[in-house]
Amino acid sequence: MTSSRDLTRYQRGEGAAEVADAFAKIVSGGKPGYKTVIEKKVFPPKCVNCGRGGDNGQKFCPQCGGKMVVPLTNCPGCDKPIDDAEKFCTECGHKLK
Ligand SMILES: [Zn+2]
Ligand SMILES: [Zn+2]
Repeated sequence: MTSSRDLTRYQRGEGAAEVADAFAKIVSGGKPGYKTVIEKKVFPPKCVNCGRGGDNGQKFCPQCGGKMVVPLTNCPGCDKPIDDAEKFCTECGHKLK
């Protein structure tokens, strides 16, 4: 199983619905309603330099030119949902920044 973060780049491009649908079937075992959970995981990017929130698809900050990154929503180590302010996972200690 790959990380759910890998899916976000497909969700912006063509065939996004098909990819999300196929992924939902794999992870849920065909359970209805799982797709809604995945769609909620798409967060707008945020500037790493000044912290300004941006729109989906923006790569650089319109305010300072800093790099826009989509914030982590789940720990890469254990997949626990994480808070934006956390620097380390409270479950497994994985570095989050
Ligand atoms: Zn910025
Ligand atoms: Zn963790």
